[in-house]
Amino acid sequence: MFNRITSGVISGMVLMSVVPNAAVADFDKPVIKTWIVQEKNDKGEMEDVKYMTIDGVLVHEEDPAKQPPPRVVTPGIASTRKPGGAPADAVVLFDGQDLENWISDKDNAPTKWVVKDGTMMPTKDSGMIRTKQEFGSCQLHLEFACPKIVEGDGQGRGNSGVFLMGEYEVQILDSYDNATYPDGQCAALYGRAVPLVNACRKPGEWQIYDIIFHRPLFHANGQVTKRATFTVIQNGVLVQDHVELSGGNGWLGHHAVTDYVPHGDKGPLKLQDHGNPVLFRNVWIRELPD
Ligand code: MG
Repeated sequence: MFNRITSGVISGMVLMSVVPNAAVADFDKPVIKTWIVQEKNDKGEMEDVKYMTIDGVLVHEEDPAKQPPPRVVTPGIASTRKPGGAPADAVVLFDGQDLENWISDKDNAPTKWVVKDGTMMPTKDSGMIRTKQEFGSCQLHLEFACPKIVEGDGQGRGNSGVFLMGEYEVQILDSYDNATYPDGQCAALYGRAVPLVNACRKPGEWQIYDIIFHRPLFHANGQVTKRATFTVIQNGVLVQDHVELSGGNGWLGHHAVTDYVPHGDKGPLKLQDHGNPVLFRNVWIRELPD
């Protein structure tokens, strides 16, 4: 096999496939330096020991001034039937107590959403809510439950949504045995990306989204220079795997969504009122570098 690859036409084919790949690959290349030092081993014998630095840091460097350890974050408490709690460095957006971090999206007034039994939910015609604080790239944890009593079907059943930076929707829908267009079912990046699997729990059961979002970047001329990316884990199951959003995903009609529209570095988190009483609990966010 080896001889075949290194000879004749096949060799040429291999070469052709290697060169374009090399041109396309645009990795950040680390600066590697290596050297050999003669050192005494456990038996008292001299031997060659290889040293290597990657971008100036020695492999297995123990000096904290040269390779600082990651800071300590006390993790949160995982939810069971009862809501858990946020990690120590998170911004808590809803802990079951009140809506002081949220306002109505349509008029900046206090929202008509209500808090009941440690959960929050929309009321009739209350509209979307958004956070007072704004965020860019982030890790978001959110728990939701679609109505236990099933009413409606398709997009009309347990519909809500979480909008990162107020723009980019991860769909919330009761997609348990409920057919709809796949790019609009639960955990879809609405209109842009179908989830890898349907990991929905039954109506009325609590579900968890853990979302890692990196915001898009724009050139001064409005062009996108870096697209938004989403990784979404629903109920412990990977449903969006570092997906690059090909454009905006706002509703433009039954078969069209928005494109990217330049915006600032941060935006509010929004939750949708789609006329269905979807419950939320244990919402927290950690800001990330872009
Ligand atoms: Mg929705």
